[in-house]
Amino acid sequence: MAESIGNSGTGMKLHTKILIALVVGAVSGIVVNTQLGSTHAGVTWVNTYLAGPVGQVFLRMLFMIVMPLVFSSIALGVAGLGDLRKVGRIGGKAIGYFLGTTFIAATFGLVMVSAVQPGAAVPESVKAELMATYAEDASSKIEAQAAGEFGINTFVNIVTRNPIKSAADGDMLGVIFFGLLFGAALTQIPRERAEPMLKVLEAINDVVIVIVGMAMKLAPYGVAGLIFGVTSRFGFALLKPLGGFVFVVLGALLLHLFVNLSLILRFVIGISPLTYFSRVRATLVTAFSTSSSSATLPAALKTATDGLGVPPKIAGFVLPIGSTMCMNGTSIFEGITVIFLCQVFGIDLTLGGMVMVIVMSVITAVGAAGVPGGSIPLLVGILAMVGVPGEGIAIVLGVDRILDMTRTVVNVAGDISATAFVAKSEGVWDASMVPAKAV
Ligand code: ASP
Repeated sequence: MAESIGNSGTGMKLHTKILIALVVGAVSGIVVNTQLGSTHAGVTWVNTYLAGPVGQVFLRMLFMIVMPLVFSSIALGVAGLGDLRKVGRIGGKAIGYFLGTTFIAATFGLVMVSAVQPGAAVPESVKAELMATYAEDASSKIEAQAAGEFGINTFVNIVTRNPIKSAADGDMLGVIFFGLLFGAALTQIPRERAEPMLKVLEAINDVVIVIVGMAMKLAPYGVAGLIFGVTSRFGFALLKPLGGFVFVVLGALLLHLFVNLSLILRFVIGISPLTYFSRVRATLVTAFSTSSSSATLPAALKTATDGLGVPPKIAGFVLPIGSTMCMNGTSIFEGITVIFLCQVFGIDLTLGGMVMVIVMSVITAVGAAGVPGGSIPLLVGILAMVGVPGEGIAIVLGVDRILDMTRTVVNVAGDISATAFVAKSEGVWDASMVPAKAV
């Protein structure tokens, strides 16, 4: 698989191909959007019969293996760590890292949006127009928010009633919980009884990794298709009125990635940011094009182990949890969006209100599902808390796709760094163990 990610057989490295596909998809989408318009019959045909299906097949190949991978890698991770105290310690460190970096990210986003104040610049007429255009979308998000209200049941529901149903419904936390218990229970039965099950889990893991390799062969086509679908439909039209907002979100995301995370990589984890990014970049392109931490999990796992040399036991345990809990990019986006909409609606937040927005951004980023737009329903919940009408989300929905793609990159970069952080703190990894060859 290292080979299949690194080199796709025709001489050109796979990540180079994926990057080229990204550019080709984006540029051709923008060109047809500006020249022909998004409703042109030819553009619709290409999206319906070519770009859309190819992108979907790629996405489905990734989603197909997420649940078996989460279950087998968590169960193996826990069983492999053996001692439950060790599981607790490693889990505690991982969660500490997730929360710490997410908190830094949310605070950073808030400082940026308060400094730039992009909300003040949106004219009344544009606001009304955007609200009308996206009203329907917004109401479905508001309903989703109401259905998934944050409360005691959020925690009770983690204890899944039926792990197969959880897997079928994409309820990652339920599957993680079952995997944790399963792995812990495996350590409690005699070794010779546990052995066959461990072998099965290892085999599932290996098989899934091979399927990831197959999916990644499709990546250049899938990525081009997905990106074309987005740019051909949206072009630049929405970027104008919301330019300031988009600029602040993208700026904060990139600064977090290349400044904050780089500082953490260099001074806390002890790895050169350049080395880190050169190893993870193909996975970050996958995150960008799929907009989903969950869909990127298989590739991220491979990158952490083969690209950075993090022991599989640690990566297999930390990453599946990180892909749903550690969302630095999402918390930046949420904090900025809430404050932006407060500015648009003329709501003045006190310092206490700001602190609440940071805390809620961290909590909801932890709770958001790693799927495209996974954080939007939770974001609607924070908006209600600060007094922005839920429909206000309509203002930003039109530009969310590009923001979603970018925040997912930041989420995944944070997830992978967490594996290195935990492995280093356990004394089982350091930067000298990063394999020499770029993956
Ligand atoms: N798409 C994001 C992810 O999968 C979640 C979100 O912020 O909507 O990481």
